[in-house]
Amino acid sequence: MSQSKDEQSALSCNLVQISSHHCSAQHLDLFPNKTYIGGKWTDSLSSKTFEVLDPAKNTLLGTVPDCNVEDLNLAINSANSAFQIWSNFTAEQRSKVLRKLYDLHVQYKQQLAEIITHENGKPLRESLVEIDSSAKSYEWFSEEAKRAYGDVIPSPAPNKRFLVVKQPVGICGFITPWNFPAYMIARKTAAALAAGCTVVIKPAEDTPYSALALCQLAEMAGLPAGCLNVVTTSRSNTAQIGKALCENQLVKKISFTGSTAVGKILLQNSASTVKKVQMELGGNAPFIVFDSADIKKAVSGLMASKFRNSGQTCVCANRIFVQENIYDKFILALAEEMKNQLKVGHGFENDVTQGGKIVMGGAKCDILGGNFFEPTLISDVNNDMEISREEIFGPVAAIMKFKTEEDAVRLANSVPVGLAGYFYSNDISQIWRVAEKLEVGMVGVNEGIISTIEAPFGGIKESGFGSEGSKYGMNEYLNNKFICMGI
Ligand code: ADP
Repeated sequence: MSQSKDEQSALSCNLVQISSHHCSAQHLDLFPNKTYIGGKWTDSLSSKTFEVLDPAKNTLLGTVPDCNVEDLNLAINSANSAFQIWSNFTAEQRSKVLRKLYDLHVQYKQQLAEIITHENGKPLRESLVEIDSSAKSYEWFSEEAKRAYGDVIPSPAPNKRFLVVKQPVGICGFITPWNFPAYMIARKTAAALAAGCTVVIKPAEDTPYSALALCQLAEMAGLPAGCLNVVTTSRSNTAQIGKALCENQLVKKISFTGSTAVGKILLQNSASTVKKVQMELGGNAPFIVFDSADIKKAVSGLMASKFRNSGQTCVCANRIFVQENIYDKFILALAEEMKNQLKVGHGFENDVTQGGKIVMGGAKCDILGGNFFEPTLISDVNNDMEISREEIFGPVAAIMKFKTEEDAVRLANSVPVGLAGYFYSNDISQIWRVAEKLEVGMVGVNEGIISTIEAPFGGIKESGFGSEGSKYGMNEYLNNKFICMGI
């Protein structure tokens, strides 16, 4: 990591030149057929590829390299070399690159959103929101980059001084899901780069193009080669790539967003190298509506929380508990809203909110290639049914009736996971009691949309650990080094 002043100023000069050269409007390749390792657009060493489909039409979007462990090792080695450079950039230099990434997300917003709708199938307007959130991640962490403060600790000994400095953890391996192909990568990558880490990403096999678009933006922003690497990998190679990433000694941290089942495998794989790990796993969010709630607000909060991204976010309301006095009224109001608001269709059609016909339920839509499910409302659910124990991850609202606050909290906490929880109440004492008792990492009180880059995102129990976003998110990519100085 030692570098002369001359080398450093050459690097920063290089940074400025690359940036000013590349920041004029450039063509963004929506579906490149190469992956990005060590700053180069490349095939896999085996030359194997796999196909990526538009899930709404089952048509081919393109093919990408099918990387195996050898390709992964190249990416890790590139990230290792780049770490020697990037971690020696000043915080201000790193901040400027991240800020350019923000500007480029704003500049290329429409194309970036179209990539998401093509590869993921979500409505274009939701893709545009996802790009906004991604852009804000780079903006937020361009600012946080400059605030990785350490500490001076009062010493108990007159001849010693105590300091804590923050240092980047090193190379980070990311495994990310298809439901937010840009944002799940942005929240991790922005924080890691801000801290001075370098990154190797294995994107979901269904949605590699958002990751590859980020690499194009990173080049334009002047991010040095090797700081950001993507290994596109088919499902059949995924388990071995995941294992190799976790077991590689050069990789110092794994951050994973996905299912609890896969999270447990990665935790085991990371044990042999005692790697730092961050896990953002499945949720099964309770959504409680108490008798005192404003029913209109609760229905609108539930519509937002349950049906955003077609119910395919890990913080989606999953188990809906409604107190007995307002139960019938609530179900009627919800059914009405679902009929009025939800429309199934291809994500590029106007007004589409769900990726299938609006009936109240229960079946796969036979249009759109069989990959879509009808918005569904199920009442009279009880806690013994499978639907109340599994994460639904789809546009299905299952409603249970409860009697007392204690019942609601007990039912809400009766699952092994704890990511988000929501409740609606106008009783201020009840609000404090329930907010404190819910076993989750994030609580929405009279609010259905809670995710934002300024606030910590993360779960407890089998939903994982660690915070993404916010001032806490940066710390996940920094080590505390204690310096004890004798004087
Ligand atoms: P989802 O149900 O949302 O697809 P997964 O946990 O299966 O959740 O997938 C999330 C990410 O984890 C994807 O990038 C996927 O390719 C990857 N993945 C799936 N199985 C494994 C595995 N055994 N090892 C490493 N990564 C995996």
